[in-house]
Amino acid sequence: MSAFEHSGDDQSQDDLYKVRHSLAHVLAQAVLELRPGSTLGFGPPIADGFYYDFILNEPLTEEDFPELTRRMKKICKKGQRFDREDLSADEALARIEEMGEPYKQEYGAELIEKNGLEGLTFYRNGPFLDMCEGPHVGTTKEIPRDAFKLRSVAGAYWRGNSDNVMMTRIYAWAFLDKESLDAHVQAFEEAQARDHKKLGRELSIFTIDNDIGRGLPLWLPNGTVIREELENLAKELEFKAGFQRVATPHLAKESLYHTTGHLPYYADDMYPSMEVMDQAEPGAEDEDRAVKEAYRLRPMNCPHHHKIFSAEPRSYRDLPLRLAEYGQVYRFEDSGAVGGLVRVRGMAMNDAHIYCTKEQIKDEFKAVIRMSREAYDVLGLDEFSIRLSGWDPEDPKGKEKYVDNPGAWEESEAILLEVLQELDVDFKEGVGEAAFYGPKLDFQFHTVTGREETVSTVQLDFAVPERMGLKYIGSDGAEHVPYCIHRAPFSTHERFVAFLIEHYAGAFPTWMAPVQVQLLTVGEQFDAYASEIVSNLRSQMIRAELAPSNDTLPKKIRQGTTQKIPNLLIIGEREVEDGTVTLRRYGYKEQHTMSVADFEAGILTTVKERRQEFALE
Ligand SMILES: [Zn+2]
Ligand SMILES: [Zn+2]
Repeated sequence: MSAFEHSGDDQSQDDLYKVRHSLAHVLAQAVLELRPGSTLGFGPPIADGFYYDFILNEPLTEEDFPELTRRMKKICKKGQRFDREDLSADEALARIEEMGEPYKQEYGAELIEKNGLEGLTFYRNGPFLDMCEGPHVGTTKEIPRDAFKLRSVAGAYWRGNSDNVMMTRIYAWAFLDKESLDAHVQAFEEAQARDHKKLGRELSIFTIDNDIGRGLPLWLPNGTVIREELENLAKELEFKAGFQRVATPHLAKESLYHTTGHLPYYADDMYPSMEVMDQAEPGAEDEDRAVKEAYRLRPMNCPHHHKIFSAEPRSYRDLPLRLAEYGQVYRFEDSGAVGGLVRVRGMAMNDAHIYCTKEQIKDEFKAVIRMSREAYDVLGLDEFSIRLSGWDPEDPKGKEKYVDNPGAWEESEAILLEVLQELDVDFKEGVGEAAFYGPKLDFQFHTVTGREETVSTVQLDFAVPERMGLKYIGSDGAEHVPYCIHRAPFSTHERFVAFLIEHYAGAFPTWMAPVQVQLLTVGEQFDAYASEIVSNLRSQMIRAELAPSNDTLPKKIRQGTTQKIPNLLIIGEREVEDGTVTLRRYGYKEQHTMSVADFEAGILTTVKERRQEFALE
């Protein structure tokens, strides 16, 4: 459920559907008035309004919206009646040919010839005729004239297929009353203002370069600061929780992914294999022989960590063994889905794998949940819920989707259920949402713009350790297979930073902010004093800088505010004389004058304790 969906009773949903459907016809009529001779594609109602596709003989832009809107309102005022006509297949084909609409003709012929429809429905309102199933309002007078708004112009392929012609799509919002429209538009604009692609550009956080490749973001210096601060937080929390860090390469032999079971299932999500000629393994029979090897960029870090587990003999005394890495992985996401930081093809994952005995699973899960909550608390994220995602024993395709071991599924789901009950946390259950190797807990975040997103997961794996031959010697002296817990509270840098940009609307708390303090002098004569403060702060690892000096103070304040720098220090004659600074915090109007020493102490505390707000005395 998103903020853009408005619930209501069935009747109002029906009314809304009719209004949106009818408005699509009204828009098409207005477009044909303004661009006579243009051709029509589809024009359906959608979740928050409607759109219509056209081949225009002269382009339309958002500048034409006022004129289009005026014409649409006029058509509404006319009270054109929607007249329905049901035509037999032959009549219908003749009718669409008359209409001179090649795309409607293609679609209509397909409905009749391929899908075997016995007839088609047409609707006429005023001079406009469309092939359409309806339903519509009685007359255009019933359409609320103040509750729709043209939204944007976009390109769209005919029938969504990139082999087809590109059409012009005009989107519009439509509701039953002005209040609903206004609320929706406001929420939309708020989401746009927080859009991570827009802010990512404005705040120089990341860029995508065609020569590097789609879905492979380049982190600019500002974005790299944010990444590293997140990494530092993760490393501290993990260190305290007994994790050990490892470092592993970005690729591995293809055969490894056959062993784990990721191939062939995940083949579509992986980059294709790279074949190299290599020498046979030292010690092999024909050591000098050249052999062909295939490698893959890794889509996940797990198998590499599993190999670290099995690199040494393990006993029950080594367990739980917790291996952590911000590991880079590559997934060949569909080009249509790739964009910004949310859907990428290269990503750094806040990964860790915990190897443990069955008896240790519960405590380890609890510790992971506690650590995740602590981390979210530091970040000021409190709007989340937990989902227990299990397998679906009824799924007819279950044998392909889940490891075939009903007993293990039941047992491990029961363990996770106990964990949640013992921690007394609220949760929902998600049937069929599990990974192929075991159940998981998802942290579902409710974003400020009303979306629900899975930010992180903790997964229990009862299958892959066995496939990879992992074992430890138990207290009974016998060999056992460990369980593995996969967890990534901070998801990938790419997804998580996108989420945080939106959450903070680009105004990161001081500890994460690319520039933590900017000094603004009232005149150049104060630059020397300010520069000394900057170098003092920098020597204490505070990211401070002097604002460019040729601007006026109000302009400097404006620029610092646009860059969403959390702390601006204003330096004028009084500050220099008194040995003070005047602090202006982002989002606040009031200023605080304090000694340089007090400011230094305050900012050091703010950063060290990762406070959301500046630690004022
Ligand atoms: Zn219609
Ligand atoms: Zn994993």
